[in-house]
Amino acid sequence: MDKEQLENLIKKDFGLNNEEIFNKLFLYFNLLIKKNESLNLTTITDLEEVYIKHFYDSLLVSKVVDLNSRISLLDLGTGAGFPGIVLKICFPKLEITLLEATTKKCQFLQEVIDTLQLQDIKVINDRAEEYIKNNRESFDIVTARAVANLNTLLELSIPYTKIGGYFLALKGLNYQDELNQSHSAARILKAELLDIYEYQLPMNKGSRFILQYNKINKTNPIYPRSYQRIKSKPL
Ligand code: SAH
Repeated sequence: MDKEQLENLIKKDFGLNNEEIFNKLFLYFNLLIKKNESLNLTTITDLEEVYIKHFYDSLLVSKVVDLNSRISLLDLGTGAGFPGIVLKICFPKLEITLLEATTKKCQFLQEVIDTLQLQDIKVINDRAEEYIKNNRESFDIVTARAVANLNTLLELSIPYTKIGGYFLALKGLNYQDELNQSHSAARILKAELLDIYEYQLPMNKGSRFILQYNKINKTNPIYPRSYQRIKSKPL
């Protein structure tokens, strides 16, 4: 598919029809490819692959929750900005926090924000186990794609989610085993698995799943524990 066909696909499947969005997505694509020469941001560099496996995939979040209002969203372990930057470009009302431990990736994210002149979006160069201190239960939505197994991910993400808010884990085909190991973590952290959504990426590029958790009660402030502890004694 060429660029126009990819854009039409995104328009059709996500109801996006503002040309500015597509200009910004293409600028983002170019910045990603350029920076990827010196920094390992993605193994996917072909235009069609990036538009489908990164952009389209990130946009699947909008099928699960309504992103057309001023709600706060934390993208935990955003890397090169997936899904966080894509969601900001396409749903500009969102108030986004991108949390990323690697400094060089944060520099790239800031460059994207400056070049695309994105507003109401900030980059935090920190680990999830640290940034929690002043940000407990303060986001309407928390997202994470390809950051850790579900068990670990719940311990990192649920403490940030407001009571009544959602945590969305973006997963590939192998989520089932992780899910089986994560039920006690969800219970301890006071999250409840609401739904599992399955999507097919266009052009047979694979199945994707979004696990939607509802935060039902306050999480004990001893969580998240240190990363070492999370790994050695999983919930
Ligand atoms: N979400 C992106 C990046 C996935 S790679 C995507 O789907 O493409 C996972 C990223 O999470 C890495 O950039 C890593 O630095 C970051 N990360 C892993 N554990 C983290 C933690 N505890 N706190 C903050 N960032 C973390």
